[in-house]
Amino acid sequence: MDPFIEINAIRKGLADGEYSSAEITKFYLDRAKKLNSQLNSFISFCEEQAIEQAKNADNKIAEGSSGPITGIPLAHKDIFCTKGITTTCGSRMLENFVAPYDATVVERLNKAGAVTIGKANMDEFAMGSSNENSYFGNTSNPWDTDRVPGGSSGGSAAAVAAGMIPIATGTDTGGSIRQPAAFCGISGLKPTYGRVSRYGMIAFASSLDQAGVLGRSVADICLLLSQFGGPDVLDSTSHPIPDNWLSSNPKLNPTKPEAKITIGLPREYFDQTPNLKSVEIAMRVFENAGCILKEVSLPSTESAIPAYYIIAGAEASTNLSRYDGVRFGYRCQDPESLSDLYQRSRNEGFGKEVKRRILTGTYALSVGYYDAYYLKAQKIRRLIQQDFLEVFNKVDLILCPTSPGVAFKKGALSENPVEMYKQDIFTIPSSLAGLPAMSIPCGFQNNLPIGMQLIAPHFAERKLIEWGHYFQSLTDWHKKVPELS
Ligand code: GLN
Repeated sequence: MDPFIEINAIRKGLADGEYSSAEITKFYLDRAKKLNSQLNSFISFCEEQAIEQAKNADNKIAEGSSGPITGIPLAHKDIFCTKGITTTCGSRMLENFVAPYDATVVERLNKAGAVTIGKANMDEFAMGSSNENSYFGNTSNPWDTDRVPGGSSGGSAAAVAAGMIPIATGTDTGGSIRQPAAFCGISGLKPTYGRVSRYGMIAFASSLDQAGVLGRSVADICLLLSQFGGPDVLDSTSHPIPDNWLSSNPKLNPTKPEAKITIGLPREYFDQTPNLKSVEIAMRVFENAGCILKEVSLPSTESAIPAYYIIAGAEASTNLSRYDGVRFGYRCQDPESLSDLYQRSRNEGFGKEVKRRILTGTYALSVGYYDAYYLKAQKIRRLIQQDFLEVFNKVDLILCPTSPGVAFKKGALSENPVEMYKQDIFTIPSSLAGLPAMSIPCGFQNNLPIGMQLIAPHFAERKLIEWGHYFQSLTDWHKKVPELS
């Protein structure tokens, strides 16, 4: 079997009785386990549960009561709570944590008949751009194992790119779906903030965190997202109005979407990109398809990184105060006092980057510095949102690079946090504005994948998906696969 097959083809194979869900589940489990010693994309596998889910799916298919993703194997980023299976969030703090409930994303996908084979590696508490902050070790990029897969959903991205699994969930706070998708040569969509319930998704920065999908194609992503988006009473920030198009399991045509669109090219993004060529070629694909390309300006872009690292750190410092060694998570050995218990549990349980964020976040929220840092960052966030809203009065979509460069070597930036933070320059602004955005493969540089990013107005995922899919019907970058021994 071809491990790089798209979901629609797997569905056909299942419907035609070419193979059963139990068989393909076993196939991916075997392959993922074998490649994991090389790539370290998975933190854990859940073989027994997977086979059980696959058998149930096979029964449904036999009865004729299957849905669009019944029997499809997938992986969850290890940030989603899964009942009965450890959920580590890439941290020693949660090394042995078994959630008593499923995240809404997991629950909905389980209900739809998907088969979970394991939990994907990630930067600790989703803080990072390289997967080097995982307590469970680096993940390698399947295109060059000396390089990082991106982060924080690097385990999900590497697993899909290596054909260990057809599709995986991820989360994106400032780029964690889009940047690893770009580095690994796959597609990744971060929905509008509020499109997907955050219930059971371990919190990093609650006003930014959003669940999404990393897949082989935009069509695959659309299929999975249609099964778990939409309002949820368990998350008051989930959007109350369902999107009928996405939740109706839309059929995507390879033909051009009907309406002609104008695509904005933000000057500030193109000014600072060394690997522009592939994105420029992609621009021509849209132009030849009749889209109008127009230069636009997002003047507050340069303030996005400082604002994000203040806001995300501040929210993280509050969210992570729950890990106190008392209620759940890691507890130090033989504490001498209550404060010793708190201090040592947190000191031993959290890694370096997480501590850095807690410290800077706490500082920004402290009485003397709140106005100077946190409040100012919130004002910048508003300006960034306004920039986008103004641009979206003139254009339908924005096109830009996903990342300033290709996947970098392991260790290249890990001692220099500011350089690492700068990797997020093109993904953070749309996160601060809560917009949906997607990375799609658009070329290679020295045999390493390059991604372009499409950004849409709030809740306009349909535009992203239809045009992204159309782009993929005209190009074959998304069909390239790494050579793995
Ligand atoms: N790289 C960014 C950070 O470290 C974004 C992470 C994310 O989106 N979860 O915060």
